[in-house]
Amino acid sequence: MTIKPLKNQFASDNYAGICPEAWQALQQADSGYATSYGDDPWTAKACDALRNFFETDCEVFFVFNGTAANSLALASLCQSYHSVICHETAHVETDECGASQFFSNGTKLLIVGGKDGKVDLAEVEHTVKKRTDIHYPKPQVLSITQTTELGTVYTPEELIAIHGLTKRLKLKLHMDGARFANAVAALQVHPKEVTWRAGVDVLTFGGTKNGMPMGEAVVFFDNKLAREFDYRCKQAGQLASKMRYLSAPWFGLLKNDAMLRHAGHANTCAHKLAEAVSAIPGVELVHPTEANAVFVRLPEDTISALRNKGWVFYTFIGSGHCRFMCSWATTEDDIASLANDINEVTKRP
Ligand SMILES: *Cc1c(COP(=O)(O)O)cnc(C)c1O
Repeated sequence: MTIKPLKNQFASDNYAGICPEAWQALQQADSGYATSYGDDPWTAKACDALRNFFETDCEVFFVFNGTAANSLALASLCQSYHSVICHETAHVETDECGASQFFSNGTKLLIVGGKDGKVDLAEVEHTVKKRTDIHYPKPQVLSITQTTELGTVYTPEELIAIHGLTKRLKLKLHMDGARFANAVAALQVHPKEVTWRAGVDVLTFGGTKNGMPMGEAVVFFDNKLAREFDYRCKQAGQLASKMRYLSAPWFGLLKNDAMLRHAGHANTCAHKLAEAVSAIPGVELVHPTEANAVFVRLPEDTISALRNKGWVFYTFIGSGHCRFMCSWATTEDDIASLANDINEVTKRP
């Protein structure tokens, strides 16, 4: 039986395959025997590559996916009677099936609004201050997503303002960086400027959506917070015995800036797509395109016509508009072909 690859997809960056650098690193790591459970040279190299990337002596753990990375990171920052403040569209709130509550034994998520997927700081402050009594789940962490679920990017200035607030309100700061590489590529900054220097205590750094077969890194910038995190991973079923296959792609992708190059490519593709589709009458961008996602408002009949032509894309993210997501593997042809089809099926008055 031959399996036909899926064409016509802009559903998610996790539909893409494994990028060459990750594949090559896997092959390199696949050389004979190596110690298990992370005590191997490939994992050591990957941790060093991450410390180098962030220019600091951070603690690094590799887990299988983002849900585990986020919920274990949050659990490590909280007691069960604490709460975590996040945006109403945050992945931890809408797409993790309650995992952070589960792994933290009940820590509550408190949601706030905010334009284009970014937390409104006045709402965060109100959420912390409106109750100080013992009956309220004590606010402990602010969790933000970079890039946001709506494809926008917190600027260094915005992060400084967030840090000012979390310091004042004595909140820890967690960053869901499933698409952190896309943010760094978009902002053209040193990774440290938008993480530990901006007060981020823990980053969950996504590998899967940037060309790895699987895997996310949990990066603690405050090493005290990483205490016994290895036990937390093990108990949650997130300690890979053949760890080298989870860690080696990090080493491969951080070498020669491959990760930022792929992320930059995905971002460029999104900008090209946004430009092409926003020129079509009747098509409207609903959020600014700042990284690798393009959100557009399309009439229902256009959406069905595109789906009938075989295009795959999501309409359940955020406010329910169409999301077209680019990846390291997106091509100029993919973009031209989608823009062409949207143009063709959009009915003119
Ligand atoms: C994809 C994604 C994750 C990780 O999801 P998993 O499916 O658990 O790997 C986390 N946060 C955000 C914002 C994401 O887009």
